[in-house]
Amino acid sequence: MSIIRTDSLAVGYGSKVVVDQVNLEALKGQIVCLLGPNGSGKTTILRTLAGFLSPLKGSILLKGQEFSGIDQRKLAKLLAVVLTDRPAPGLITVFEVAAMGRYPHTGFFGRLTTKDIKITMEALSMVNAENLAQRYFSELSDGEKQKVMIARAIVQEPELIILDEPTIHLDVKHKLEVISILKQMSQEKQITVILSLHEIDLALKSSDTVILVKDGKIMDYGCPEDVLSGEVIEKLYDIDMAHYSDQLGTIELCNQAKNLAFILGGGGSGSRLYRALNKHGYEILTGIVHQSDLDYFVAKSIGASIISEKPFEIIRKETYAAALNTLKKVDTVIDAGFVIGKSNERNLVLLVEAVRMKKSIYSLRQEKETRKLFQQLSADQYIERIIFCQDIADIVKKITLGK
Ligand code: ADP
Repeated sequence: MSIIRTDSLAVGYGSKVVVDQVNLEALKGQIVCLLGPNGSGKTTILRTLAGFLSPLKGSILLKGQEFSGIDQRKLAKLLAVVLTDRPAPGLITVFEVAAMGRYPHTGFFGRLTTKDIKITMEALSMVNAENLAQRYFSELSDGEKQKVMIARAIVQEPELIILDEPTIHLDVKHKLEVISILKQMSQEKQITVILSLHEIDLALKSSDTVILVKDGKIMDYGCPEDVLSGEVIEKLYDIDMAHYSDQLGTIELCNQAKNLAFILGGGGSGSRLYRALNKHGYEILTGIVHQSDLDYFVAKSIGASIISEKPFEIIRKETYAAALNTLKKVDTVIDAGFVIGKSNERNLVLLVEAVRMKKSIYSLRQEKETRKLFQQLSADQYIERIIFCQDIADIVKKITLGK
């Protein structure tokens, strides 16, 4: 069932249109997320949908009814709004702030019935804030205040909640908590949620629909898995110093690299090294990783050159030859300590070759294990050439010193 729909909506201030042609629809229980750079008009759209700004053109339908024709009391039962500005009431408790959400049902000065109290406590419990009920609202942290504001919206028992940047100023734990509360609310209570977010990964994980706002227009609209590609995100935020990975839902910074490092990775062993060395100004070459491997996606997202093999295939001769060729061009080689199995045995041969070629080799593998592996290839006499490191920080320090 359509809860809210807009048709050729133009939003803005006075005669100034900020975003034109906003055509969106949110169904019952869906989460719809606006993404876009600062100043693109997300707040303006949300304020218009919430009825705080009049549409400059077009229409908004709430459950099929023209927004402007719905009376205030009915509207309050349909729609709750959580904006970024917080009320700063003095000596008023969390319970009282949350209970204010009952006003469409009780009248603002109306007495709270047992049912109202129960609904308020349930909402506080839903946002994990029942233990805060008797605290003063003004004394809470930003994260706690946000949860209480969401509880107040839930208490209103609306069909639609509009939230502007509900995760802003929150630490990672509270960001995740707020998003999971919204998801739970949409699933269990079938409340429709329209919100704006800055975190692309959270939008990807939580929303049914994303709306990309840029340059006064809706740049794209749809299911996040379809819409959010690396190219689209980079265009949306004008990013050229970073790559967005659609597989991982993460943004990686790209440095103007001055040095080259070849990382022998695979099975996820390389990912943290790629990021750490990229951050320290290294251009990353890596191999041989399978195209289904986490390392493959992380390496891709930071713009590394990857010598890869098809998923689950034993590394082929041609792939090995390509890796060996690449290896010849670099001085610094790192063994990420990948687990060796049948499919990637050739990476061990590659490591031995790198040692033979007298590259500077840094390793995260235990010396004892390396010795055993090299013995199998009758290459243990080269072991002394490897610089064994305790952790990534140790590698970064030693490489920097060795330069
Ligand atoms: P976002 O939420 O995406 O950061 P906003 O909706 O806050 O973007 O702002 C969109 C544009 O509207 C900006 O250019 C901003 O300067 C302008 N704007 C915001 N508030 C007002 C206002 N009260 N009067 C006029 N212009 C405004």
